[in-house]
This record gives sequence, structure tokens and C-alpha cells, in this order.
Amino acid sequence: MENIVETKKCGNCGNDFPITDIDVNFYKEMNVPPPNYCPDCRQMRRLSWRNERTLYKRKCDATGKDIVSVFSSKKSLTVYDNSDVSDFDMPNIAYSIKNIQKKNMKI
Ligand SMILES: [Zn+2]
Repeated sequence: MENIVETKKCGNCGNDFPITDIDVNFYKEMNVPPPNYCPDCRQMRRLSWRNERTLYKRKCDATGKDIVSVFSSKKSLTVYDNSDVSDFDMPNIAYSIKNIQKKNMKI
């Protein structure tokens, strides 16, 4: 059972929020200071950095199929088409991923 160690006032909305002993242990383990914003305001800040509005045309890195993704082809991320995952044959996916990894290692 967790115990409230401290009640803090959110630096954004002004609402009080608890800091529990489990939270304190987590902050010590991660070597970070306790938060100054309440959980809701922290979640809003995290969500403000997410891209959910811009979509890009690019190729699936496994099949080369034209897909739409939240990641542009200019990003150095590997993106797979997940619209027909059930149609994939697992050994072929593993083979494709292995080839993509080899290709990326050469770059
Ligand atoms: Zn807040």
C-alpha cells in the first residue's frame, strides 16, 4: 500500500496533487527531482509533443508498399505497414527485418 509523503501544488493549474512513497522511490531510482506539475498537466505536456495531425506518404520498410504514416520518410526510423499484418508470413518478416538491419548498418 502506498502512503502519501507530500502534497504539492501544481505549478500550472494550481491544483494539489499527492506524492507517494512509491513515487519518491521511483524518482530516486531514476535520479530525477519530484514533479512540479500535477499528473494531468504532465500528461497534457507529453501529448503536446505527439504528432497525430500530420500524415506522410512513404514506403513500408518491409514490403516497399506505399503507405501513410505519422513518420515522414526523412526520419531515420524503420516503419512497417500494419494494415495487413495478418497476411504476413512470420519467417518472411524476420528475413525482411534482418535484411533491413543489414542495409541500415552499411549506411
Ligand atoms: Zn496541473
